[in-house]
Amino acid sequence: MAATNGSLMPNAIQEVHAFWIAGGSCDGCSIAAVGASSPSVEDLVSGTLPGVPKVVLHHPVLAVNAGEAFIKPFRLAAKGELGAPFVVICEGSIMDEDLAAETGGYWSGLGADEDENGDPQPIPSSSWVTRMADHAAAVIAVGTCATWGGVPAAAGNPTNAASVMDLLGEDYRSALGLPVVNIPGCAPQGDNITETVVAVLLYLHGIGPLPEFDELGRPAWLFDETVHRGCTRAGYYEEGTFAEKHGDKECLVEVGCWGPVVQCNINKRGALGGMGGCMNVGAPCIGCTMPGFPDSFAPFYQAPPGTNVSSNISRTTGLLVRNLRRMTQSYQNKTQRWKENGHVPSGWGHVKQPNLREKMTHYFYEKLQFRNSPKPGKGIKRLKNNDQVKSS
Ligand code: SF4
Ligand code: SF4
Repeated sequence: MAATNGSLMPNAIQEVHAFWIAGGSCDGCSIAAVGASSPSVEDLVSGTLPGVPKVVLHHPVLAVNAGEAFIKPFRLAAKGELGAPFVVICEGSIMDEDLAAETGGYWSGLGADEDENGDPQPIPSSSWVTRMADHAAAVIAVGTCATWGGVPAAAGNPTNAASVMDLLGEDYRSALGLPVVNIPGCAPQGDNITETVVAVLLYLHGIGPLPEFDELGRPAWLFDETVHRGCTRAGYYEEGTFAEKHGDKECLVEVGCWGPVVQCNINKRGALGGMGGCMNVGAPCIGCTMPGFPDSFAPFYQAPPGTNVSSNISRTTGLLVRNLRRMTQSYQNKTQRWKENGHVPSGWGHVKQPNLREKMTHYFYEKLQFRNSPKPGKGIKRLKNNDQVKSS
């Protein structure tokens, strides 16, 4: 996808403002962002990353100023009068404020405007997004509520909640020519947020290429693989061994894991500081990064319908593969000396010796293993005193 309007951006950008706007959310995305370490929010706001403009963050929870002093930059940005490039970062779903207005209330807001009587009226979060979107270098939706609607938009939702994409529409393009950028997750992996912001800022600065996004605006390099492909338990799946209850160490597909079809990188990246991540801590994937979440993945913690087919195939093929691997492993757990002596001098317990079938299998296995290269030690004969000399 090509940018259409880089001319709005000065050549040497010293600072970029980031306006964080919260809709219907639990604030979990804010927590995820401040927990990021690669890069961290501190790296961004202190301007210590080479080539990345310093970020001036306007966040309702992290701000040190309050009241009109906090709101003023939002007003300037909404009018296109900030005098510096900015991005809008949205957390939480977009509630239908018309519904709330019917009873004289509002769902979520930031600051206030005076009404005709001079009384302050809250400015809905959704109103800030639409006011600022056209002037923004990019609108970045973080978390599944902002990207797809999430839990507040589940079937039967009373607030008519929707995503930022739903609010701004298919034809929306930012000042950089970008549709809404989406970083899903409930909560999203924190580094996914900061890394994507940096990629957009590098492009804005003219240093980096336009980051690659998929057809739903997700950073392609973060969301193009399934959970399953990066799962630490994938070897168990391949060998056809499955957890029967929570707490078991094997593949979790039969206790409700949707990882084979869900696009998410948390297992590879960890939840925080490289630690954690769903399967790494024993939790089946419930598809929280996906547009269909939560309804399409309900009921949670029950095997997905396709599981019986795929897990039973793995069970069948896995039994054979598992046995062959165990056999190979038993040979690779011996030194050359132990193999030659036919005995393992372990004081820890008896080490099982291979039976005739295993010896024959291993014989042919080694024939294959060394078909293109000499077997180590070939042509070398061991003397009784354990010195080694070339045989004549
Ligand atoms: S736990 Fe889930 S993601 Fe991991 S191997 Fe099993 S099915 Fe795949
Ligand atoms: S592994 Fe699944 S449940 Fe866990 S964060 Fe990723 S999508 Fe969400």
